Amino acid sequence: MRHLFLNGPVQNGPFTFQSKPGKAVGIRLAAALNAIIGAPTAPHLWNTVTLAGDLRYRQLNDTTLTREAFEADLIAAKYPPDPPPAAGVVTDTSSEVAELAMEMVEANLRTGALTISRETVPTCRVCGHLTGSGGHPCNACGSTATQDRTGLHLVAHLAKDRPVLDRSDIHASHRQQPKHLQNTAANTPARLILSRTRDHGIDLAPLGLPALVLDPRVSLHVTVLAAARGLDADVAVMTITQNAANHIAAHGQHFRTYDGTRLRYALHGHLPYDHTADLRAVYEAYRAGAETTRAFETWFLPLVSLKEKGATHPQQLPALFKHFMRATLARPTEPDPATIQAVQQEIENGGTDWITSRHRLATVLAAGRSFAGHEGATRDRSDLAHRSLRAQRLA
Ligand SMILES: [Zn+2]
Repeated sequence: MRHLFLNGPVQNGPFTFQSKPGKAVGIRLAAALNAIIGAPTAPHLWNTVTLAGDLRYRQLNDTTLTREAFEADLIAAKYPPDPPPAAGVVTDTSSEVAELAMEMVEANLRTGALTISRETVPTCRVCGHLTGSGGHPCNACGSTATQDRTGLHLVAHLAKDRPVLDRSDIHASHRQQPKHLQNTAANTPARLILSRTRDHGIDLAPLGLPALVLDPRVSLHVTVLAAARGLDADVAVMTITQNAANHIAAHGQHFRTYDGTRLRYALHGHLPYDHTADLRAVYEAYRAGAETTRAFETWFLPLVSLKEKGATHPQQLPALFKHFMRATLARPTEPDPATIQAVQQEIENGGTDWITSRHRLATVLAAGRSFAGHEGATRDRSDLAHRSLRAQRLA
């Protein structure tokens, strides 16, 4: 089983990683875990199919800039002063994602898990945006005039023989299984409309659904699967917060496995980055340099978020830093291969105990497996060779 960790696609909003490091946690966590288990450097995944993006692009009113270029520029602006990702970026409308999405939709139409049927949905009278129920103003144009409109839509039928989420969908040890998430995800209507009105997305016109795109909650799953397939992984582990998983799990039910590749969610918590300035005294007490504090904040804390699946509290930060420093100082000169292997096994089983074990953390740090994939300053050549081999095989 070749595992590959991939970030749950990040919404391409107006922020930078420097100003909002919390947005990079899923990316940094995936990079840290891939480096330790010896998986290839993964591309960074981005969610560009958003109403907010439609509105920002419309407002720009620049016909010389395509929507793709607009999104790509916004993504590129997230990274400085760090270098762009070594393995590139994949968005939820990249061609390999769109191709795989259509394959998966067609396969699901054949089994009856999805159907195309006439549906009556509340629609904005002014701009035609699907407003959903609730009687609120149109999110796209602000109009309060809605009407029920009947037309063809892509509909998912929830499986009756299995829950929306079960244990095998979650990458976690038994005692870290999120019972709450499984319960709330199960609380979903039996039918879900998967076609949406968006200016940008995976076009459903080839299925006879003009002016509709695939719901981004579906395409996010396909983005992760496509990236995993590109690197020959069997298990695509998507790093994601519990809230986000709750929001997309039902839409992903028929899009988590395809042709031998399986998607699982690795849940992680929020980190108190607004409070890292409080650590200055502790940093000074340990005479920690910029490289060490950066490793703590951008490598170790994301790993902690995998263990603390709710949230890490600001008060925990000093103790976490002391633990990280003690492990750093306790790095063995010859890292024990058996210990590394045990940590790799634990990661592949969804375990997190190694993170709080000084000995195991020290061994991982000593093995230099900490920053190999981190921020991707150097491009992994073997990884590229691997990709082009696969490309040749597909061609
Ligand atoms: Zn409208």
